[in-house]
Amino acid sequence: MACPECDLLHQVTTPPQGGISSCIRCGAILRKGGHGSRDVALALHVAALILFLFANGFPLLSLHLHGTVQEASIPGCARILANLGWPWLSAVLITTVILAPLAHLSGMIYVLLEIRRARPNRWTVWIFRIVEQFGAWGMAEVFVLGILVSYVKLAKMAVVVAGPSLFGLGAFIVVAAAAVSSLDIGSVWEALAGPTKAAEANPPTGARTAREANLVACPTCGRLSPLKTPACPRCGSSLHSRKLQSRERTWALLLTATFLYLPANLLPVMRVVSLGRTQSDTIMGGVLYFLRTGSWPLALLIFIASVVVPIVKIIILAILLVSEHRRSSRWPEHRARLYRLTELVGRWSMVDIFVITLMVAIVELGSVATVAPGPGSVAFALMVFSTMLAVRCLDPRLVWDSLAPASK
Ligand SMILES: [Zn+2]
Ligand SMILES: [Zn+2]
Repeated sequence: MACPECDLLHQVTTPPQGGISSCIRCGAILRKGGHGSRDVALALHVAALILFLFANGFPLLSLHLHGTVQEASIPGCARILANLGWPWLSAVLITTVILAPLAHLSGMIYVLLEIRRARPNRWTVWIFRIVEQFGAWGMAEVFVLGILVSYVKLAKMAVVVAGPSLFGLGAFIVVAAAAVSSLDIGSVWEALAGPTKAAEANPPTGARTAREANLVACPTCGRLSPLKTPACPRCGSSLHSRKLQSRERTWALLLTATFLYLPANLLPVMRVVSLGRTQSDTIMGGVLYFLRTGSWPLALLIFIASVVVPIVKIIILAILLVSEHRRSSRWPEHRARLYRLTELVGRWSMVDIFVITLMVAIVELGSVATVAPGPGSVAFALMVFSTMLAVRCLDPRLVWDSLAPASK
């Protein structure tokens, strides 16, 4: 197979249980061995789904105020937000916390069951491809961090008690992580459509990368096909030797994110109206609030996730793009590592959006104050999404293309 991040060709055998095969040139993970059989993975996915349904069916937080108790579940929060006239916040919550994990788990369970019954067909392959491509948008773990932050904020206004859903969600994250690491994705593709063969087994001598061997690797399932094949014969993903207009698209998204960075940090992200007094909060205001009230770990967390991570990500992407543009051959391993880092940390910037989401929904229940998202929050959410998309549009193989002739 070809390394997804540098295009180098490898002979990959099935890694041992719990083992990982990684690229000898750039260190990217080629294939994970998984733990136990596919039945173990299936059981873990089913357990995760049950915990997920539990987490969505019970109250998340309850607010005790003036002798009354108000409870809100995750779908309840989404409903309150939509009713209050913030459909975009509601949509972010529904997509990243409800739909993405639900689709991922049920899709995986379906695919594993079909393989177990030995009757996978075109639909199974199609579903697995969708599951693989969209799994990254689930953000339950970031949401839980958001709950903890808003819990501390809300505790200053009223008595807040964690509901059963919060524990369900915590258990769900642990089990879901175990489910993902238990499964060897490569073995699922093999079970679905047979092992890769043909051109892959014997690349022409002297060719180091898929492109040099006149091959193109599938971005979803990794199967190699002859160059200029329009779609992967195994999973149907469209094939391109390099991501289309990678530089142009990444630059466009990066500039969008840079323009949004200032309004996201300077405009208020939240307005609190309480007893006729309106108080606007920027992101830094939230950080300072936690510092004043002595919760410095939370102040540090919000500062890193909301202020530092986005700007560092923008700078790293700009460095990668500029060095690619200049066809620089310096420190390719470090640049590959920076790319992986931006891929990993980007989602955590969403924590402040979840805090706003929860504050708006939960405070509405108490009816002593109103919390409304400010214009800064829209800019902030768009900024986080454009940096996430920018990372997806960037083709890490371009780093290695510029030094391929020199090293031959
Ligand atoms: Zn590599
Ligand atoms: Zn494919």
